[in-house]
Amino acid sequence: MFVDTADITVKAGDGGNGAVSFHREKYVANGGPDGGDGGKGGNIVFLADDNLSTLADFRYKRKYLAENGENGKASNCYGKGGKDLVIRVPRGTLLREAGTRRLIMDISGSEPFIAAKGGRGGWGNSHFATPTRQCPRFAKEGAPGEEYELRLELKLLADVGLIGYPNVGKSTLISVVSQAKPKIANYHFTTLSPTLGVVRVGAEASFVMADIPGLIEGAGEGVGLGHRFLRHVERCRLLVHLVDVSGSEGRDPIEDFETVNAELAVYSAELASRPQILAANKCDLASDEQIERLRAFAKERGMAFFPMSAAIADGTKPLVNHLAAELAKLPPMPAYEPDPLPEIDEQALREQSRAFNLNVEDDLFIIEAPWLLKLMSRINPDDYESLQYFQRVLKLTGILDALKEAGIRQGDTVSIYDIEFDYIP
Ligand code: GDP
Ligand code: MG
Repeated sequence: MFVDTADITVKAGDGGNGAVSFHREKYVANGGPDGGDGGKGGNIVFLADDNLSTLADFRYKRKYLAENGENGKASNCYGKGGKDLVIRVPRGTLLREAGTRRLIMDISGSEPFIAAKGGRGGWGNSHFATPTRQCPRFAKEGAPGEEYELRLELKLLADVGLIGYPNVGKSTLISVVSQAKPKIANYHFTTLSPTLGVVRVGAEASFVMADIPGLIEGAGEGVGLGHRFLRHVERCRLLVHLVDVSGSEGRDPIEDFETVNAELAVYSAELASRPQILAANKCDLASDEQIERLRAFAKERGMAFFPMSAAIADGTKPLVNHLAAELAKLPPMPAYEPDPLPEIDEQALREQSRAFNLNVEDDLFIIEAPWLLKLMSRINPDDYESLQYFQRVLKLTGILDALKEAGIRQGDTVSIYDIEFDYIP
């Protein structure tokens, strides 16, 4: 079965804890604090891999954990950072938030995408030493790694999509022009999953062709198989429409052509209106009149026309060259823009009681509240507005009041996971 959606959980590594330790050496009294910092947790990273064309691997493995950072040690030894976990997905995989289906990222490009950030390592006690605080007996815990439930959804990215009635020779064509080896058989619906093939053109150029399983009547309305696969045609830059010009199965190629396009139109008018290239297959079985009739039809519709016998690779070369030349003129298919983050519901923040821990160590006020982490992943500590917003959250949730109650004064430090700032009343 072709798997093009999957639900998974990803969790980045937790940061290691900072160490509490004091320098010890013979004959040296009261050595200073030397607890090292914890290491950063590994990120969850997504990467497009052109060798993959389904999400089948994700059916069996649903949880993905990156390595935690190691704890800091004495003698100012840092904890080792956790390794990133790289998750390879087919190019064109959409990452969505499981619940809301918000599009987080379209993994279409080749840059790695960090979907969950590893937690920062906690500072060791040597970090907290100041002239007035010479023996800090505390260190910070590492911040937990981000955790998300994701829905993966594949929308194949191919340069050329092959469409056409079942059994007209789509799988045969892709098998002779590329390395792909799809199943070819003389019955309908042999192709149960799209096949991708890399078509080499000369020494340098190549493009990706996708064999999209047969569209059939009713597919656009969700009847039969085709519908599931239609979304994989959406991101093809060119469409090649293959017909059996010989009518070897007793159908008329022009009627087939119209039927398939009607299916496309039900699914998406925009898709159906894209230019197509007409490939007349099984010429070995066709009469000259049949071929000329279809050629005239293509001309009337303004379509490029390529007669061929895919099974013996006759006439496929001109099509491949034409496709390469056309693709060179077309811009790449743009990736989908991520959906914006939803506005934070301030009302809800105010109303829900949110528990948090407040520890005071001298002039350092340490707040821990796991629910804050989700908000914090959106805060950019270098951006004034972002920090202003964060202040507002602290106010709405009662954290500021708690700080005041605990006796915070101007210039004291507030420390929330990996954000630290000076308190200004
Ligand atoms: P698909 O359903 O469109 O993928 O069609 P297939 O590639 O599986 O081909 C269906 C049948 O048509 C198979 O038996 C092929 O061998 C046959 N076929 C494909 N191309 C040609 C051709 O050029 N000439 C002839 N005579 N048969 C072909
Ligand atoms: Mg096929």
